[in-house]
Amino acid sequence: MKNTHHDIPPALIEALRNAQRVVVFTGAGVSAESGIATFRDALTGLWSRFDAQALATPQAFREHPDIVWGWYEWRRAQVLRAAPNAAHYAIAALQRHVPALTIVTQNVDDLHERAGATKVVHLHGSLHAPRCSACGAPHVVDDGPATVSSVIETHAEAHAETRAETHVGTPAGSNADTYADTHAASNADEGRRIPPPACTQCGAPVRPGVVWFGESLPSDAWSTALHAAQQCDLLFSIGTSALVYPAAELPQRALAAGATVVQVNPNATPLDAHAHCNLHGAAADIMPRVLAAAFDQRDEGLKGDQAP
Ligand SMILES: [Zn+2]
Repeated sequence: MKNTHHDIPPALIEALRNAQRVVVFTGAGVSAESGIATFRDALTGLWSRFDAQALATPQAFREHPDIVWGWYEWRRAQVLRAAPNAAHYAIAALQRHVPALTIVTQNVDDLHERAGATKVVHLHGSLHAPRCSACGAPHVVDDGPATVSSVIETHAEAHAETRAETHVGTPAGSNADTYADTHAASNADEGRRIPPPACTQCGAPVRPGVVWFGESLPSDAWSTALHAAQQCDLLFSIGTSALVYPAAELPQRALAAGATVVQVNPNATPLDAHAHCNLHGAAADIMPRVLAAAFDQRDEGLKGDQAP
């Protein structure tokens, strides 16, 4: 079943049709096709003077909470403006075709969920689940227009009050040009420092709900992912470099347990040598065709083009 071109191998189709338990393991490559910058690529513009490792640590948050919170709010705003792509929709559609599907992602966005996926295991946390830095209480974020507007307002207010007014109430994702304009304006700022909100339980600063350098993966997410990988018949590794451990261990565990492992990635990775099937290409191109080939759902993934 070794395969390096885009035809979907019959053996893969057969394995997918017969699989009882499937794991889809995703990485940055899946969201990149929705325009979400990878972790390091997010350090553009005025953020480029920072080092990713310096922003994404508990120490950085203690010392410069407003810089770190500002950076994550900027990234969260970027995600709110993005839409799931055909890969996200095809993966969500798999739920209807296999008896048990576990989606495990290293991505901190919510694009799988917005494509309709339920029960997504977030190994590296989520931009959309901040919590108290002291007591751990979840902080309810308003992902609606008000939150986006407040971020934009903060960015724009130094330049023109009228501009900030214009953006208040702009629905998320409704006007990419507006955002680009504001974004360009805010690039002139020295920094987009946003003080983190205070915990409603104890008053301590709220922190981003992501896993930082030096922190462990959430234990419940990791054990769920590990169990799923060891019990599955088929694992897709999609858009991930297979280099970042411990997450990269999941395909290895599935292989060791006898599962069929299928890799979808434009580039070669260390997993190429071990996977049963390597589909080199964009996930947004390949995954809808995998679905169509296995289940004759020729419209799967096309919804991506219709998303607002
Ligand atoms: Zn608290």
